[in-house]
Amino acid sequence: SVQPRDSRSLDVVHFTAELAPIAKVGGLGDVVHGLARTCLARGHNVTVIMPFYECLPQDQIEGLGFDMDIEVPKGKSWDGEIQLTTLKTAVYRGVIGGVPVILVRPADWDACNLFRGGRIYGGSYNELESYLYFCRAGLEYLRCSGQQPHILHLHEWQTCAAALLYWEVYSALGLYRPRVVLTIHNLDNTGECRQDEFAFTGIDGEQFATIERALDERTIGHNPERLNLMKGGMVYSNAVTTVSPTYAKEVLSGMQAGWLRSTLMRPEVNSKVRGILNGIDVEEWDPARDELLPANFSAQFPDGKALCKKYLQRGLGLDESPDKPVVAVITRLVPQKGIHLIKAALFRCLDKGAQFVLLGSGHCDGEFKAMAEQQFKDHKDIRLLVMYSESLAHQIYAAADIILVPSMFEPCGLTQMIGMRYGAVPVVRKTGGLADTVRDVDSHAPGEANGYTFDGTDEGSLHGALDRALTHFKEQRASWTELSATNMNTELSWSRSSADYVALYNSIAMP
Ligand code: ADP
Repeated sequence: SVQPRDSRSLDVVHFTAELAPIAKVGGLGDVVHGLARTCLARGHNVTVIMPFYECLPQDQIEGLGFDMDIEVPKGKSWDGEIQLTTLKTAVYRGVIGGVPVILVRPADWDACNLFRGGRIYGGSYNELESYLYFCRAGLEYLRCSGQQPHILHLHEWQTCAAALLYWEVYSALGLYRPRVVLTIHNLDNTGECRQDEFAFTGIDGEQFATIERALDERTIGHNPERLNLMKGGMVYSNAVTTVSPTYAKEVLSGMQAGWLRSTLMRPEVNSKVRGILNGIDVEEWDPARDELLPANFSAQFPDGKALCKKYLQRGLGLDESPDKPVVAVITRLVPQKGIHLIKAALFRCLDKGAQFVLLGSGHCDGEFKAMAEQQFKDHKDIRLLVMYSESLAHQIYAAADIILVPSMFEPCGLTQMIGMRYGAVPVVRKTGGLADTVRDVDSHAPGEANGYTFDGTDEGSLHGALDRALTHFKEQRASWTELSATNMNTELSWSRSSADYVALYNSIAMP
């Protein structure tokens, strides 16, 4: 898409554990990719520094090439003493999905297993050690290559140590220009770290173990007290963002702050936090051009959607009825996503003669696997696909009449937005970014309304919204088709949100 060029071009370096399309586990990878690409189009100089995971498909990294070797300080705590070493690190460069990347990994992978294994998280390596090493390596690379970006944009706990190391170590080693932005995509994981484990960065963690810095307040009085990397990241950043205004409010009010409640209550932290709603990548998610679909469609030419629905029904062995609404859920299967409500929706669809398609995986997938193989094996209206599949995701969004997101909490949520872009009507629990993006048909004017929402965490609340949507589909098809077209026309791209990020960058950047 065409972006306005900003008058001042900033040098922005992201530190991240994920980058779509090839190093993506959840929304984090999409968000960094979408934001980076849009800022590049706006005329900024953007680079993403990320781990060179062993599992990355190297053939999908354009122009992959060796850049330099660097010696990265590293430590290990032993009997109260820190033993310092350096780890020879190989830095590569390339382009992933249009975004220039710097990939770092130990030069001799056989001597240590950092970032090795068949997947991004939960591989065979020690995550805390690997990401602490990664933060140090990224900063060391910036120092060695003589770069002075305006902005270091950090994401999630995995990269928070870079904020601590930048201000306490690297600002005395010649890195002076960067200002730091931390984006919190999810406060569920905050990076707990023993003081001695922080030594993996080559720096003693003790200096960070105060309430004002990175001490994990819930461990005060315990032996030993611990650090919390996300807390440290917030303290040591110039600005902190989270991925929707409502989630920011929920976090600041303490409701969703979890263990970091007392940190977030502090005025000097509180005043730095703001919410910027995520966009979606409207080129990657474009029903008018999507090559993974049997037919393309748009608000002006919506007919292809019916074909996509028929094709999915046929492919999955479902009853090929255009009059049964397809209710889709595409999600990681973890408690955050409202597992009990996903299950309740499945049975409600069964009762109401709707079809239900789940694409999901994660540590709560056992029950769904069992149902898929027994109760709903070859069922004509229910299909539970317990797996991760990019191409199936595209086909399901395109076929869906309803996209359901019944999360217990949701920092932003992308699937409701992607679903809308493909003409589905979202049914969501009114929390976090879902509350910011979905407006209920029964309380908003036509044109403004785009879906159905509910408040409670019980099945009755879910039924209330889902039933209203199913009735709408069944009894007012013309109005439903209009709603679907409205949703396809909604502006969901990164244009709007990237402008907010650029304004934030400018508000803190050095000349
Ligand atoms: P989260 O980041 O919490 O996982 P989001 O809604 O922000 O949730 O982002 C989820 C992203 O991951 C979307 O792009 C969605 O399409 C994708 N996704 C989730 N589960 C699957 C799956 N099983 N197969 C394919 N894509 C998935």
